[in-house]
Amino acid sequence: MADEIIIIIGAGHGAAQAVQSLRQKNFAGKIILIGDEPYIPYHRPPLSKKFLEGGMTIERLYIKPEKFYDNKNIERRLGCCVTMINAEPKYVVIEGKEKVPFDHLIIAVGSSLRKLDILGSDLRQVHYVQKISDILAIQKDFDAVKKIVVIGGGYIGLEIAAICRKMDKEVTLVHRGDRLLSRVVAPEMSEFYHKTHEEEGVKIILKTQVSKIEESQRTLKITTSEGDELSADMIIVGIGVTPATGLALEAGIFCDNGIYVNEFCETSAANIYAIGDCTNHPSPLYNKRLRLESVPNAQGQAKVAAAKIMGENNIYDEIPWFWSDQYDMKLQIAGISDGYDQIIMRGSQENRSFAVFYLKDNVLIAVDAVNSAGEFMAGKKLINARAVLDVKKLADKSTSMKEFL
Ligand code: NAP
Repeated sequence: MADEIIIIIGAGHGAAQAVQSLRQKNFAGKIILIGDEPYIPYHRPPLSKKFLEGGMTIERLYIKPEKFYDNKNIERRLGCCVTMINAEPKYVVIEGKEKVPFDHLIIAVGSSLRKLDILGSDLRQVHYVQKISDILAIQKDFDAVKKIVVIGGGYIGLEIAAICRKMDKEVTLVHRGDRLLSRVVAPEMSEFYHKTHEEEGVKIILKTQVSKIEESQRTLKITTSEGDELSADMIIVGIGVTPATGLALEAGIFCDNGIYVNEFCETSAANIYAIGDCTNHPSPLYNKRLRLESVPNAQGQAKVAAAKIMGENNIYDEIPWFWSDQYDMKLQIAGISDGYDQIIMRGSQENRSFAVFYLKDNVLIAVDAVNSAGEFMAGKKLINARAVLDVKKLADKSTSMKEFL
């Protein structure tokens, strides 16, 4: 394979892992990493947390230092976009003009931001949180900002609200759903996060959207769908993402709620793989297809795709997991709770240390753990084992999680 070329489109977590796995498996050919941002792969989760807070350099975000890519002989084409994939003959086009051939292609392009599409949504003080450049733009004016309206009550919105409160900003959060984090957790958990954010001083407005934004003398006037008016110095938006399927679709690769891949991360086109947030993959554990927005998923799929390129058939069957840091709370989620018929609480919400176990037909399918690493770790193993649990014991904090293992 020494004369083969692998191109990786996208320079995120999945790409960083793919590069590493390919070299670990002794792929001796050429690897070209193409990313639209001017940076080597970096950790994205700190963007809405530590990096926004300030005092963290861009280099500290890097997953691997620059010299790693030099040592592994990885050609980097950063700050440029792939504008076309041609599946047969195999090549990509960079910036509409440069054709680069490949033998294997890994599409690791992640997701595209959902954007507000209302009057005033293009004003300078309306920000998003996806890339380093987004945070640098926020930071330019951040010190002078006192009042912030956060739009969206998902991970991004809540993490931003928490950091802003830590920095003593006045925060109002507007969410269109009837509860926070509705995409990912049960109502009991939403309630807990709602209460905690209110205790920390965030004003939360549910079942509401922003319908227009106007600016007058550097203050933003925000009109909601309920006809109320809010004012702010800055707006930060986190209203979700969609899988970035554009390039794949134009190349004739089958997509359905993401780039459709099999258990080896192969797409419908020969020698073209897709990994991470942009994919829709089969989950043997849950016996259905999943599209996940998660770092561990991108890394796990990268390992499987790299192995397949090197002739190994490793099936992707990892338990999905996620985390979110807000105030003094580390939320760790394992599994997918869709379809649960029973939930078991364990621990103390008051002490901000508890876990919610989701069961279906007495089998554990997911766990949300707040400051409860033991419950999270054990839960992950028990989900994998498709464990039937004694729910009374599970709810009793004096029963060690080890007992279930
Ligand atoms: P998200 O978790 O999907 O949450 C966005 C929320 O905004 C949804 O509940 C959505 O409601 C709501 N929304 C949509 N349109 C709205 C509108 N016009 N006005 C008010 N609310 C609206 O997405 P996110 O928080 O933006 O995060 C983006 C990505 O970053 C996701 O992939 C997320 O997983 C990732 N991320 C992960 C972490 C983590 O794992 N810790 C942290 C930060 C970000 P509907 O449900 O009704 O659409």
